[in-house]
Amino acid sequence: MAKIMKFIGFFALLVIFSSSFANRAEANHSWGGYHWARTANPFNLNLGNNISRNWISFLTQASSDWSQSAVLGTSVIKGATRPANCRPTNGQVEVCSSKYGQNGWLGLASIWTSSEHITQATVKLNDSYFDRSSVYNTPAWRASVMCQEVGHTLGLDHQDEDFYNSPLGTCMDYSVDPTLNQHPNFHDYEELENIYLHLDPASTLNQLTRRAVGNNNLDEPTAWGKAVKFSKNGKPVVFEQDLGSENKLFTFVVWTD
Ligand SMILES: [Zn+2]
Ligand SMILES: [Zn+2]
Repeated sequence: MAKIMKFIGFFALLVIFSSSFANRAEANHSWGGYHWARTANPFNLNLGNNISRNWISFLTQASSDWSQSAVLGTSVIKGATRPANCRPTNGQVEVCSSKYGQNGWLGLASIWTSSEHITQATVKLNDSYFDRSSVYNTPAWRASVMCQEVGHTLGLDHQDEDFYNSPLGTCMDYSVDPTLNQHPNFHDYEELENIYLHLDPASTLNQLTRRAVGNNNLDEPTAWGKAVKFSKNGKPVVFEQDLGSENKLFTFVVWTD
């Protein structure tokens, strides 16, 4: 009898868990519930500075914007990699800018996960476009892309992937005109509270060691794995690469036109 009760109890838990998970997945814009593991809230996430002078004020702004969250803060620290190869550091985000070439993308967020936890991330801002293109070399484009890529490293997905509808007023929204999309909005902070509601038994933050990163040349779209999500106009915007043993690499892309 006790065994049966245990069994029923287990099932009830399973149903509650999976239905609340399903509700969350519907009502939110996290990407699969991936998150930094931590033992207390609010937690601090370090953002390594590997960017050119043109980007500093935008990283400072994005860091202070995301730090408005009730569950987390971000700190800009000295970077631990060279901008050109932008190698990840376990337990933090490395933010890099460099001329990565005319390969079609403005910005990338690469995020490594182990089971449901984020272990390390990089943000790359492509100066081959930002420094040269009259379209993208604007404060609005720089602010919007910086804010969005850092947002992905926190566990957020886009709120909207249609470039041509009216802007939602968040950097997690695609728009041909980013003027109104330079900062997070209330719903982003709300979503972060959902993602980081629970605590974990151990932390994936501040590990400061190198981990295997799989394919090292992540500038090329062919290295990102399979496309798992597409924008309204049919471009792949999220890629997933299976690294084995429940380790994955996710790549979020902002393409040029
Ligand atoms: Zn967790
Ligand atoms: Zn994005």
